[in-house]
Parts: sequence; structure tokens; C-alpha cells
Amino acid sequence: MADDKQYSSIADNLARVRERIARAAERAGRRPEQIRLVAVTKTVPAARVKEALAAGVTDIGENYVQEAAAKHAEIGAAVTWHFIGHLQRNKAGQAARLFDIIHTVDSVRLAEALSRRAQQLDRRLEVLIQVNTSGEATKAGVPPDEAAALVEKTAALDGLAVTGLMTIGRLQPDPELARPEFRLLAALAERLRRDTGLDLPWLSMGMSHDFEVAIDEGATIVRVGTAIFGPRRN
Ligand SMILES: *Cc1c(COP(=O)(O)O)cnc(C)c1O
Repeated sequence: MADDKQYSSIADNLARVRERIARAAERAGRRPEQIRLVAVTKTVPAARVKEALAAGVTDIGENYVQEAAAKHAEIGAAVTWHFIGHLQRNKAGQAARLFDIIHTVDSVRLAEALSRRAQQLDRRLEVLIQVNTSGEATKAGVPPDEAAALVEKTAALDGLAVTGLMTIGRLQPDPELARPEFRLLAALAERLRRDTGLDLPWLSMGMSHDFEVAIDEGATIVRVGTAIFGPRRN
């Protein structure tokens, strides 16, 4: 029984996350339905992912193509699959087959590889452009001043639809430290909508520890793992 608190059920965790989303939206003068929750399932076994689906999760996020392929075989395509990890070009074919939305396009060459593969599969793949808003050298993503060019080049490719931007906030315990980065991404999307006429509805930003701040800055997708499934052992 002592374990009950530590391993509270996925359904309970999910309810708490939805409650946090609703409160953050309310504080920001937004509606909770405007925020799409992606449950991040990296390292989570398929059985636990299915528990989350039973509890109402409709979108799942995976970081590794190989791991996703194994789970895809068990879970199927009834859920929306988001790729949120670093994508190597030689995995573009598998990614285009398994996933519905790729959050992490950060080069023309990757976009071109996905475009080719999506066309071969006769799919229209949604892609987000990942922006390195913190300027940290270790982080993936295109620099903010190169985002417009990448968005336009990617939007011109067949088989792909650019529908937004993604960023990873500074990995600091204090979520406020990531606020300028989220604000930068929102401003960038606003400018791109004006300059390109593209829709760009998705702003993918915010994780377990900082999604409230991201919602305050306009996030329309939050990617939440730990707060739903508990700490990862890796
Ligand atoms: C792992 C991961 C998440 C989820 O992180 P949590 O802190 O567990 O919520 C979100 N986004 C990306 C890109 C990730 O790699």
C-alpha cells in the first residue's frame, strides 16, 4: 500500500494534468480545448500506453523510431502518432510510415527526405519546424533567424504540410526561465503567419515541468511524459 502514492494510476495522473492545463488556460484567458495534449511514451511499455489510451489519451509522442515501430505493431494507427525526437535522415522512410506529425524538422535535407518518403507512401505528412530558441549549443533546432527560410522551403515540398513550430524550453527546474523562449517561438509563428500566409496552428512547447508557462505564452500542443507515466528509468 505504501507504493500507492508513488505509482498512482495513469488515469489519476492524466486527470491531474488535464486539470493543470485547464487552470493554466483559464489564467491565460484561453479555453482548455485549444490545447492539445501529447502523452510522451518513450520508455513506456505498450501495456501502459494502452492504459493511457483507455483513460482518454488520443495523441502519443515517441522519440525513437525503432521503439515506436515495436509499439505501433501493438497499438495501431487509431491514435495520432507524434515524432518528437531527433530524426536521422536514414530513418525518414520509417518515420513517414509510422507517424502522423513530425515535430523536429530542422533542415531542408531532412524535409526533402520526408517529402520523398511521404510521396512514395502516398501520404500527406504534417511537420513542425523545430527552433532552437535558447541558443544552447547542445540543442537541436534551426536558429530563430533561419526559421522563416526553412518554413518556406518545407512548405513548397510535396507530401508535407507545415503546420507549426516546436521548441524545447531550457531544462531548468524553474519553468519561468523558459518563458522568454516560449515567447520567442510564439512571436516567430505570428510573424511567419503574416509574412507567408500559412496557417501554422501548432505551437508545440511545454513539458511536465514547464507546460503552464508554455500555455501562458500560447502553446497549442504540450508534450507531457513524466507527469502522466511517472519518472523514467533511463
Ligand atoms: C521526453 C520529452 C518530453 C516529455 O518530457 P517530460 O518531462 O517527461 O514531460 C517532451 N518533449 C520532448 C522533446 C521530449 O524528448
